[in-house]
Amino acid sequence: MKASEVLDNLKRRFPNEPEYHQAVSEVLATIEEAYNEHPEFEKSNLIERLCIPDRIFSFRVTWMDDKGQIQTNMGYRIQHNNAIGPYKGGVRFHASVNLSILKFLAFEQTFKNSLTTLPMGGGKGGSDFSPRGKSNAEIMRFCQAFVLELWRHIGPDTDVPAGDIGVGGREVAYMYGMYKKLARENTGTFTGKGLEFGGSLVRPEATGYGNVYFLLQMLKTRGIELAGKTVCVSGSGNVAQYTVEKLISLGAKVVTMSDSDGYIYDPDGIDRAKLDYIMELKNLYRGRIREYAEQYGCKYVQGARPWGEKCDIAMPSATQNEINGEDAQKLLANGCFAVSEGANMPSTPEAIEAFLKAKILYAPGKAANAGGVSVSGLEMTQNAQKLSWSAEEVDQKLQSIMQNIHEQCVKYGQQPDGYVNYVKGANVAGFMKVAKAMMAQGIL
Ligand code: NDP
Repeated sequence: MKASEVLDNLKRRFPNEPEYHQAVSEVLATIEEAYNEHPEFEKSNLIERLCIPDRIFSFRVTWMDDKGQIQTNMGYRIQHNNAIGPYKGGVRFHASVNLSILKFLAFEQTFKNSLTTLPMGGGKGGSDFSPRGKSNAEIMRFCQAFVLELWRHIGPDTDVPAGDIGVGGREVAYMYGMYKKLARENTGTFTGKGLEFGGSLVRPEATGYGNVYFLLQMLKTRGIELAGKTVCVSGSGNVAQYTVEKLISLGAKVVTMSDSDGYIYDPDGIDRAKLDYIMELKNLYRGRIREYAEQYGCKYVQGARPWGEKCDIAMPSATQNEINGEDAQKLLANGCFAVSEGANMPSTPEAIEAFLKAKILYAPGKAANAGGVSVSGLEMTQNAQKLSWSAEEVDQKLQSIMQNIHEQCVKYGQQPDGYVNYVKGANVAGFMKVAKAMMAQGIL
């Protein structure tokens, strides 16, 4: 089947999965040329095999809330592709979770993991459980109930989950604790664990720091310094917090952060003390970003995203499709010259088109946010060796992985006029490795 026919076919067979179609469509549009250079790929129907997950588990999760009421949620694990290593990818707890979103994330993860240079296949999981407003005890009971079903499908050499939206260190710890009880082993299945029980230093920071390291590589290609630049960041969770931390330490000025209710604009910039306030607010008290504006007397805009504010650089770090075509035009009109994605697929196809047309530096999430899964891969290595590395060692490895990913993007994405299309570069580089591995291993 031709690459262009695959999407129509998927839409017909899997209707009502718009995010999945969107992710597949973006990849297919950019890899067609590379694909056509290898007639053996078409003969073995490689693209279709690469787009459809190896398997999907779905299950009911039953748990008791603090009032003694019995609640049910849906739980899922998508094992997308394990051609280059065990399935690897996070778990998302959010009310919006459905198969379309998890299939897009698992598909993207396969290419991202391929880019990291580490031997990891792609997977993703989650639940439509919303942690918002839940007590610690409810979170624990839900995590345990979730793993009661999930545990039989995962393992250190088969499938290694981690965190994502709504799943941080606390949730990973509850899930891992339950997993160990059921599986009767201590091999470290799950990454993002606490330091006391097999976690890696720099894992919490890795996605945000990695995104800034990738941004630095992009800026270098145009001889631009990061210090002194104004940056709009969205989100205020794990990825956003450590993106802001690294940006501040390198002398950039971050003027926005957000949550699902709205965004704050601080023209003086978020400094270290203000970021500490946000970390405490979000990680300890589970508060709202609005409270930052009350604390520091700055602007808060309810129900909106920060892309109308003037900035040099945008780093979307909240969720998918949070920058639409209109937002992209606003960013460009305000002089934004670089967008580096911490979130997965935060830009709609219209936004991506606008960025590429304007020839700004634009890094898709599967390249720019690959630092998180990379350090997860390093956590797996440390667990297997029963050793732990220093923060400097892990950070050094993270920097060289991000540099390597950047080099791969340039290799496969540089156009004749010199402009680097990082979307194409990341997709083609990620695709070629998985494709070659699948070809070598036969029709499965
Ligand atoms: P967190 O749950 O820690 O934070 C998510 C942030 O985004 C919160 O501020 C949340 O607001 C906001 N948010 C979530 N959903 C929406 C929505 N529908 N609209 C607006 N805001 C929203 O998640 P992470 O920081 O871990 O993940 C953020 C993004 O980064 C996701 O796209 C994830 O897939 C991606 N990513 C994460 C990695 C990781 O290592 N954690 C690795 C690679 C990518 P609120 O507090 O109101 O819910």
